[in-house]
Amino acid sequence: MCKTDTNPPIIMWFRQDLRISDNPALCYAVETGKPIILLFIYDIFSAGLREIGAAQKWWLHHSLVSLSKDITTLGNRLVLKRGAAADIIAEVQGQSGADELVWNRRYGEAEQDVDRSIKSNFNGSARSFAGLLLHEPSKTRTGAGGPYRVYTPFWKNLMNAPPPRHPFDRPVQLPKTKHDLAGEHIDHWGFLPTSPNWAEGLREEWRPGEAGAAVRLEKFMSERQQKYDKMRDHPGPDQTSKLSPHLRFGEISPNQLWHASLTAEANLGKNKGAAEKWRQELVWREFSYHLLQEWPDLAGTNFNRNFDRFEWRTDPAGLKAWKQGKTGYPIVDAGMRQLYQTGWMHNRVRMITGSFLVKHLMIDWREGERWFWDSLVDGDPASNPASWQWIAGTGADAAPYFRIFNPMLQSKKFDNSGAYIKKFVPELKNLPPEYLDAPWDAPTQVLETSGVILGRTYPAPIVEHRFARERALNTLNASKEINENE
Ligand SMILES: Cc1cc2nc3c(=O)[nH]c(=O)nc-3n(C[C@H](O)[C@H](O)[C@H](O)COP(=O)(O)OP(=O)(O)OC[C@H]3O[C@@H](n4cnc5c(N)ncnc54)[C@H](O)[C@@H]3O)c2cc1C
Repeated sequence: MCKTDTNPPIIMWFRQDLRISDNPALCYAVETGKPIILLFIYDIFSAGLREIGAAQKWWLHHSLVSLSKDITTLGNRLVLKRGAAADIIAEVQGQSGADELVWNRRYGEAEQDVDRSIKSNFNGSARSFAGLLLHEPSKTRTGAGGPYRVYTPFWKNLMNAPPPRHPFDRPVQLPKTKHDLAGEHIDHWGFLPTSPNWAEGLREEWRPGEAGAAVRLEKFMSERQQKYDKMRDHPGPDQTSKLSPHLRFGEISPNQLWHASLTAEANLGKNKGAAEKWRQELVWREFSYHLLQEWPDLAGTNFNRNFDRFEWRTDPAGLKAWKQGKTGYPIVDAGMRQLYQTGWMHNRVRMITGSFLVKHLMIDWREGERWFWDSLVDGDPASNPASWQWIAGTGADAAPYFRIFNPMLQSKKFDNSGAYIKKFVPELKNLPPEYLDAPWDAPTQVLETSGVILGRTYPAPIVEHRFARERALNTLNASKEINENE
């Protein structure tokens, strides 16, 4: 409760935690009993910060609208500002006389530099809280005291650590300050696409904000968690939680997910393995942040420096075909089109399309990382580069470069009915499922009756599989020799 209106206010600075529930910094702010200034700063001005991609901007717009409504129902308002965070905080403090500032931590190097500097310059008390992850990434250490490079011992370590705390209660009121701080209007930030307006598919698929996240969680727990271990690799019907963009923007906390998973497992379940498998995926996210914290330039530099000598190809036409979903490999094209249309791609298909770019086309993984960063609604500063380095073979605990996904076998195994391919590559919808993996193997008559003319209605493969595989392996061997002879 707000004690008196003459209390100096406290500033709650939202960042990757756009939620009211289980928000440690916000909880603290409420407990102080002070009037609260609820502030979001769009900052691409402080040194080193990476601008979010177009799909994330779409998400952020709607997420802030949703947060703003939730805050209004609790008696306060969200103040939106654009600029370098240090300047904005100083301005808001100057206008309001706030003597406390709180936020939930973030883990990129540039973000932490900004936060450290604000903490030391703030005229009053500035406190940070843990609200993005289950465990502080820098505290998980190997027996020798260093960071982990391999996932399995990282997971085991966390399983022996104290369990993640239970979620905090949702505040019922957010006392407001008497200061009428001027904020900006989200519509002036230009986050929504106009011409072309590519966001139609995103609008159909997603409901950004805390309420949308809660609906996804409920649906996953009641319908999917029990069969997650068996079905998670099948991209056809939705089998995974699709909570990643909500997690990315902090509309739901990992603690809420962790404990919801334990509760659903206890209430419903015989299949303990399925729920644990899902929690292991949450820990992959933790592992990515652990890597980001230890190796800050995860999106820019090969984790395995031996790959610095690897000869990536320059292939603008191949890169364009990959981005547009016109490689002639149906599972790859379906994935890339799912990404473009909905801002999201199934994990198995992220691996297939990623492998195709770095191995079949031998294009530098950083090109893929950048495209995903721009196109994914869940584009994450840790999981995106860590996963790209994993798939490229350049990362910590990576799939070795010589493991080259065979797109035909992958689609036979995981999209056997062809439902996924047919949904996103409609020009192949009349082709019998047995030819969807490799339409070029279909007899001429089958192609004709299905209305498929390779090279006209659907592309012929832009590179032949066996040739591409040999080329990638030969280049790897050549770069190994260079490294070994040095
Ligand atoms: C090349 C590539 C790029 C990727 N880029 C991103 C990204 O930018 N943002 C992102 O959140 N995930 C990324 N992933 C990981 C994974 O594909 C997505 O987290 C997952 O598809 C999200 O779907 P979901 O929410 O239904 O996941 P679920 O299967 O329901 O899993 C629950 C949560 O666990 C986390 N998770 C699951 N798998 C992984 C994983 N392999 N690595 C890290 N966290 C994981 C996610 O937060 C996810 O929401 C990438 C994977 C690859 C191969």
